[in-house]
Amino acid sequence: MSPAWRRELLRFVLLLAGAGLAGWPFDLALPFMLLAAIAYGAWLLYWLYRLERWLTSERRPHPPEARGLWGEVFDALYRFQRRNRQRTLRVARLIRAFRHSTAAMPDGVVALNRDWRIVWFNDAAARLLGLSRQQDGGQHIGNLVRHPAFIEYIEQGLFQGVVEVESPLDDERRLALSVVAYGQGERLLLVRDITRLHRLEQMRREFVANASHELRSPLTVISGYLGMLAQDARIMNEWREPVTAMRRQAGRMETIVADLLELSRLETANDDVVEEDIDVAAMLARIRDESLARGEGPQDITLRIDTPTRLRGVPAEIYSALANLVINAMRYTPEDGAVTVRWFLQQDRPAVSVQDTGIGIPAEHIPRLTERFYRVDNARTRERGGTGLGLAIVKHVLQRHGAQLHVESTVGEGSTFTCVFPAGRAVTKPS
Ligand code: ADP
Repeated sequence: MSPAWRRELLRFVLLLAGAGLAGWPFDLALPFMLLAAIAYGAWLLYWLYRLERWLTSERRPHPPEARGLWGEVFDALYRFQRRNRQRTLRVARLIRAFRHSTAAMPDGVVALNRDWRIVWFNDAAARLLGLSRQQDGGQHIGNLVRHPAFIEYIEQGLFQGVVEVESPLDDERRLALSVVAYGQGERLLLVRDITRLHRLEQMRREFVANASHELRSPLTVISGYLGMLAQDARIMNEWREPVTAMRRQAGRMETIVADLLELSRLETANDDVVEEDIDVAAMLARIRDESLARGEGPQDITLRIDTPTRLRGVPAEIYSALANLVINAMRYTPEDGAVTVRWFLQQDRPAVSVQDTGIGIPAEHIPRLTERFYRVDNARTRERGGTGLGLAIVKHVLQRHGAQLHVESTVGEGSTFTCVFPAGRAVTKPS
């Protein structure tokens, strides 16, 4: 019991005792005590009344001056009230700072609840997605950003990377959307205007495509004349070797230009490519014959066809990807090594693996192999003279078919490149 309570009780007991003593001489001790208790009750009611008035008053002035227990009660309430007011002010200041900072952000932020409904958004999100504060609070985000790629992104629920879509307000503008999960199932949708980046990327693509295109014709002429010169009996002996070297280098440049053109074509989302049911076994047999005819690497390629399944895809693209893998296997495997190509089902996903017993690739290089012009920096790969674009082409083709490339390799023992396609691309019915 607190000292204030003890004092209050003492006061009450003394009041009763005083009233009893005062009434004693008149034989009215009990009625006096009763009167004192009623007076005490009235006094309590009075302070309760003041407490209620103070609590309900709009301006909340200082609490009434009171002594004893009531003073303690008023003081405690006043302290509690002040602490609360300070806390509310602090939170309000924080919310204001948060609103101001997110309003100043160039990127859009939309807070979504666990049902994908809009809870809050900043000015940039309103501007980029055309959201209106009056109408769109509480709306499902899928009703406002209806792009199929975005709907698929949120339905998958993985939230990896970003999805690029056209702005719902202006199809000249591009937006990158990404979702971050937080709290208990809530999400933040981040919206970034990437129109400039997209245009730069487009310009880069067009530049590479145009430059390669423009280089192709002069190179064909140079290569043709060098070919004629190399075979001309009248050519002076000391020129024979330089002409052969120039012809070889011109041939390399032609291959690089052809690969760059193919990459540009693969990067441009063109709708006129036609998917077919590909007879992968026949395609691999053709690739084997053509690769052996190049005369590089082992004398034979083992083909293992473990499934009669056909593959749904764009034949020219799939051919290009698989040929690149087989040519690499031959290029980086000595003559006494072996190359095995396999067409099989991995669980229910169609897959092609190209395995060699060649020089292998150090582990640190594997993640970067599909970058353009990336070569494992060792003298042997350079002297074999690839373009450094083969695996970039493979990556793009596989991306366009929703497939994945897995690379396993041990230096000095060999490598296995496996392309795994989505199960939906397996065609089992005879065509
Ligand atoms: P390149 O035309 O140089 O072969 P790629 O893009 O096809 O270019 O391959 C990139 C690099 O990956 C190659 O330069 C080579 O170092 C390495 N590489 C690719 N395939 C193999 C393989 N089967 N065995 C060893 N190294 C390989």
